[in-house]
Amino acid sequence: MMNILRRIRPALFALVATAATVAIAGPAAVDGARLGQADREPGNWMTHGRTYDEQRYSPLTQIDDKNVKRLGLAWSRELEFDRGMEATPLVIDGVMYVTGPWSIVYALDAVSGRQLWKYDPKVDRGLAGNFCCGPVNRGVAAWQGRIYVGVLDGRLVALDARNGHPVWSVQTTDKARPYASTGAPRVVKGRVLIGNGGAELGVRGYISAYDAASGKLDWRFYTVPGDPSKPFESKALEMAAKTWNGDQWWIWGGGGTVWDAMSYDPQLDLLYIGVGNGSTWPRALRSPGGGDNLFLSSIVALRPETGEYVWHYQLAPGEQWDYPATTQMILADMEIGGVMRHVLIQTPKHGFVYVLDRTNGKLLSAEKFTRVNWASGYDLATGRPIENPEADYSKNDKPFLQYPGPLGGHNWPAMSFNPRLGLIYFSETQHPNYYRLDPTARFEDHGRRWNISQDYSLMMKDPRMIAEVDQNTRGSLIAWNVAQGKPAWQVEQSLPANGATLATAGNLVFFGAADGNFIAYSADSGTRLWSFDTGVGVMGGPITYTVKGRQYVAVGSGWGGGIASAFKDISAVDQRRNTSRLLVFSLDAKGKVPPPVLLGRVNDTPPVKMVPEQIYRGGILFSTQCGMCHGSGAGGVPELSTMSARTRADFMGIVLGGLRADKGMPAFHEQLTVEDATAIKTFVEFVANMEKAATARKASAKSP
Ligand code: CA
Repeated sequence: MMNILRRIRPALFALVATAATVAIAGPAAVDGARLGQADREPGNWMTHGRTYDEQRYSPLTQIDDKNVKRLGLAWSRELEFDRGMEATPLVIDGVMYVTGPWSIVYALDAVSGRQLWKYDPKVDRGLAGNFCCGPVNRGVAAWQGRIYVGVLDGRLVALDARNGHPVWSVQTTDKARPYASTGAPRVVKGRVLIGNGGAELGVRGYISAYDAASGKLDWRFYTVPGDPSKPFESKALEMAAKTWNGDQWWIWGGGGTVWDAMSYDPQLDLLYIGVGNGSTWPRALRSPGGGDNLFLSSIVALRPETGEYVWHYQLAPGEQWDYPATTQMILADMEIGGVMRHVLIQTPKHGFVYVLDRTNGKLLSAEKFTRVNWASGYDLATGRPIENPEADYSKNDKPFLQYPGPLGGHNWPAMSFNPRLGLIYFSETQHPNYYRLDPTARFEDHGRRWNISQDYSLMMKDPRMIAEVDQNTRGSLIAWNVAQGKPAWQVEQSLPANGATLATAGNLVFFGAADGNFIAYSADSGTRLWSFDTGVGVMGGPITYTVKGRQYVAVGSGWGGGIASAFKDISAVDQRRNTSRLLVFSLDAKGKVPPPVLLGRVNDTPPVKMVPEQIYRGGILFSTQCGMCHGSGAGGVPELSTMSARTRADFMGIVLGGLRADKGMPAFHEQLTVEDATAIKTFVEFVANMEKAATARKASAKSP
């Protein structure tokens, strides 16, 4: 008997070992152990922020501040849709997994760019008008041989990393509500974590955890309370409900969507989520009678295995300015005020660099990184902002130019951290806004179309107000000393609303700019060492990796998403085609991007007779019906001031009849009349004429 056992046991061990190997063999064989020791394989980029602490700091040093000037284009790949490139690619064992517009996933050979497979979840292109903000996507997650993508229409799909075939697919949202998923999933302890967006259209925010193997829903954490007459989903929501008033918020959702940031600390076993802004925006309408409205605009710590609430910190109590706490959260251990701390760092739209003790959510410091006037600062004893009464537009009818506006401060473009220097690197945008409660807004109007209860009619009638906003709009790259609470260096950029950063141990910071340049600065001094002109605004998250001992740097260029709804990139300024493209660089490579495609102006034909009332009416309609994708004053993606003659001729058919529904331009015949569409066309042509005149003025001012 013993002899038989002796003989069988090694065989059993071999079997067990084989089974264990099979479970994580093959491509994308990522698990918690590998992610926890990511620095042992610095050539890979295995999760969205490279590591669970989302520092986006690579230990690779082959490319450094001495030789970066030899960096050139190794390969590039144009994607089939021009709707913006927000993704951060993953690279695992020589294979790149990246998403483009419409949640399409590509697996590419990371050395040559050769396509290994492609997965198109076939999102109904006609749905684009139901979602905020354009069909962009920020990337995938990898776990045990599978690639996970959050699809725009709310699906979460698991793909076989070998061939891109779907293994399972679940609907994570109520399809009857305007939810959209654009963020990258993360996987913690075998659970795929995914949130969603839609607060500007009326939804209730939450994050879900799905079993990575089966796709079964494991837990869901709602960020705002539901109908208080029904049982609460958790004790945390019972607490949160005490901070809400009124009888309607739960009908339209209340907002608080978890549309981007998540970080994880394996030692503390805490998952951190960033919670979005309120729905609708004005607190007077959303929660009459006041209240902090938890967990809007908050960072919440949860147990990753159960979704159980541990602590929260609310950045803006009673938030009403579209200030979501959804930008990336960097976890670091550093000395603050002479004490070693486990910190969490966030630099959101609010305009402050927040440093929290991530063990308990206590605010350690909040320093302004841009022009801010909604709050004078923070009371560190209570952790609450000292709010400027003029910022409470629900009560205050006088126009007040508030800094930052909803598109200012710093948004989703990822930041990075150099732990040796103690510096974070992020793009800053100064962009103020006149908030004003729309006196005609009703909560009942929420739940399907864009509705933020803002009245922009004063601005539409008074060009001085628009000029004031424009004159005070600018952007920079900031290197911020976290311990000292001030910038170490700052570089002004030629356009506002710039992209993401990557920090490397080669004393480098890579940065994508709206002017089309992908730039390397020295991490310690901010000296511009190298740049590459991609021809289109760069928003995507840069990464670096190695294959067979050679270091590469990758980034996506292409304008789109929420940023494009308000800011032009260089392709829009120069009237070139906005192309979504993936670019990969290495030392001594000599590749070139194809020459840009030039576009005509909408007003290359003689201008039509403009009726001021029609322009005004068209402007209001444009901002409420078209602005989500096409921008607040034309601009946006596609850039309408460069409409072709063909588009102009087909305008009514496109807008009302859905002629371009297959390209993501839905039919608006239910929302707009022929007179409405005519007014919108007149407004777009008016804006294009103004821009043409401004360009001509600039050109004649330059010529001697
Ligand atoms: Ca928002």
